[in-house]
Amino acid sequence: MNKLLFSVVISFKKEAYIVLGTLAFILFLPLISVVVIANAGVAAVSQALVAINPVTHLVEIFDSKGKKIDERELSTVWPIQGIMTDTFGNFDAFRQNFGYGAHTGIDIAANAGTPITPFAKGKITVVDNINDSACGISVEIDHGGGVESLYCHMSKTNATVGQDVKPGDVIGYVGTTGASTGNHLHFQINVHDIPVNPRTFMAGELGG
Ligand SMILES: [Zn+2]
Repeated sequence: MNKLLFSVVISFKKEAYIVLGTLAFILFLPLISVVVIANAGVAAVSQALVAINPVTHLVEIFDSKGKKIDERELSTVWPIQGIMTDTFGNFDAFRQNFGYGAHTGIDIAANAGTPITPFAKGKITVVDNINDSACGISVEIDHGGGVESLYCHMSKTNATVGQDVKPGDVIGYVGTTGASTGNHLHFQINVHDIPVNPRTFMAGELGG
């Protein structure tokens, strides 16, 4: 599902589906609906789904009615170090002109071949070694509780489906496969199949 959410160029229908799903979700969130109208949408939905508790410093995950359903530790391990070249929720003129939706992850530029590691422990659910989608060569990880992460545009991956992984393990290498114009990692986190801001799960700044 993550992969389909990402592949906005390939499947316009899926993009419409995301918008409808997001709107349906927003209907359950009257408190943020005003914000959504004034905003790109994805950022507001993300903020409604995941937030850092200022007291406990845990990431709290909410359902569509605003009820807390899970909480977990912030991660200190970014998948790679590098320069952030595109933020979550970006919907600039370039993206609009080329028919892309709002950006569903964070882009981090780094040299080709830089090792990529999971931001948290989990189990690999998808390994795509065929460079035929917008995400390119990619890996998806299930972190439990409806949280999944997606790593796109790899040059190669040696990961296998079912493999248990943790921060520090190498799941692939930075490349520019798929819809990409330079070596970078597209790092995405979905909560119940809805892209959320990966930044919310991360403690500390991304180093260059
Ligand atoms: Zn991206």
